[in-house]
Formats: sequence, structure tokens, C-alpha cells
Amino acid sequence: MHSMKRIGQHFWYITPISETDRPILGMVVGNNKTLMIDAGNSENHANYFLKELEKENIHSPDMVVITHWHWDHIFGLSALSNALSISSKQTKMEMEKLIDLSWLDKDLDLRVYEGLEIEFCANAIKKEFSDDRNIKVVLPDITFEDRIEINLGGLTCVLQHVGGSHASDSVVVYLKEEKILFLADCIYSDIYAENRSYKIDETLHLLDKLETFDAETYVLSHWKPIVKEEFKKEVTMLREIANCTKLAKGDKEEIIEAYKKITGRELTEDEVEVINEFVNGYNCSVA
Ligand SMILES: [Zn+2]
Repeated sequence: MHSMKRIGQHFWYITPISETDRPILGMVVGNNKTLMIDAGNSENHANYFLKELEKENIHSPDMVVITHWHWDHIFGLSALSNALSISSKQTKMEMEKLIDLSWLDKDLDLRVYEGLEIEFCANAIKKEFSDDRNIKVVLPDITFEDRIEINLGGLTCVLQHVGGSHASDSVVVYLKEEKILFLADCIYSDIYAENRSYKIDETLHLLDKLETFDAETYVLSHWKPIVKEEFKKEVTMLREIANCTKLAKGDKEEIIEAYKKITGRELTEDEVEVINEFVNGYNCSVA
């Protein structure tokens, strides 16, 4: 079950659901305009959020921004035709590739078999949609290259392209006055790679960009909002493992030893998983 939450004066969101891969959806409410963040993994997902917002007296959004092209962030867009939709140019280009695809079980299975789709997404799509797959990929109305600033009335939203291993088109949304940075999926690894992976340079470059924002709250779409301290820990961990991977030239045991020395303790399961993902990324960049 989703639950509706609020942070500060102007930001609402619904919690994610992992079984069907529904990410967090956000709504920024300014004095004049509203901006929804991500369209959801289906029309049902988008409509559920709109219905919950109605209870808070917040009506259909004026605008909706798509953070990156992955299905779980865009399939709800067809339910939001009254809103002006915005994405990066790159996101629109990636979405164009999805328009003519069929999402029936047999076609999903074939694409998984051919290595064009991953099982994780195919399974979640099957769970989210019943047999009638009312999936219609619609394209954003407006695109931008690097950065766009939107004044919602007393509230500024900066949409900034940041890239990263998860999706090179990733955009973050910064609510300036509220000091909230909506990260979406940008700090996750590349789930479409043969083995989930982080690339060293992409990750370091991404972290540099994220650290230019003065934020107190960071929203991770498939998890939850975290506070600055927790975000900093995450960034430090990714940076250190990236650097260890570079120094050890992708040798897993060496990376583990080096990172253990830095932390002065045994590693957590999550850290070992991140190390694996950097090793995967290293191996495919030298392959
Ligand atoms: Zn994603």
C-alpha cells in the first residue's frame, strides 16, 4: 500500500511499492502553479496519486517532469494529458524508442530472451498490468538540454541533467526554498547492464554535480527521503569504493581490503554489493 506524506510546506509524495516497481511520485505546490515529479508506472499509479492529492485539496498538476526514461517513471504520462510535460532532450529520445514496442507477455519474454529487456522489469510490468495492457507511451511536450528553472510562485524548481550509471539521461529536481533534492534513481547502479554495474568516472562526475546543491532532504525514488547526513554517508561510500576500484584496477579482493582499511571495520552486505557492481562496471569498461 502507498501512503501519502508531506515534507515542509510545499512538497507531497507517495511512498513506493517494490513488488510492482512503483517509484515515489512527488508534487510541488507553489502559489501559482504545481509541478508533479514523475508520471508513475501506469495510469493507475498516476491516478491513485491524483486522487490522494484531491483529498488534500490539490488538483491535477499544471506540469509534470520526467526524471528519466525507465518505464516505471513514464507509463503514467498518458493519464496526465492536461499537464504540460517536461523532460531532458535525451529522455525524450529514449522514450521515442519505446513507442512502437508491444508490452504483451509474449513480446516482453522475447525481448528478455534477446537481451533487449531485463527480467526484473518484465516481471514488474506483468504484475502492474492485467492482461489488457493499456500502455501508451506519450512524449513530453517540452524538452531542455542541461538545466531549466521553473517559478511556481514563491517557489523555484531547478531541473538539472546529472546523468550517472543508472541512466545517462537522469535529471534531478531541486526545490530551492525547501532545500529538497529529488534524486529519483540517479545514484543507483545500471540495472540494464548484463550484471548490475557502476562506472567509476560516471559516478564521480555525478556525485560532484549532486554536491553542488544546498539541500537538507534527498529523495530516492525506490526507497525514501533521507537527511543530509545519510546522503553524505552514501556519497562518501560511493566515492571511496570508486577510488579503491580505480587503484585496484577492478580486483575485487584488493578493493575489499583497501576499503576495509578506510572504514576500519568489517563491510556490510550493501557495501560488498556496491563493490561487486563497481567490479562489473570496471570489467565491461576494459573488455
Ligand atoms: Zn530507473
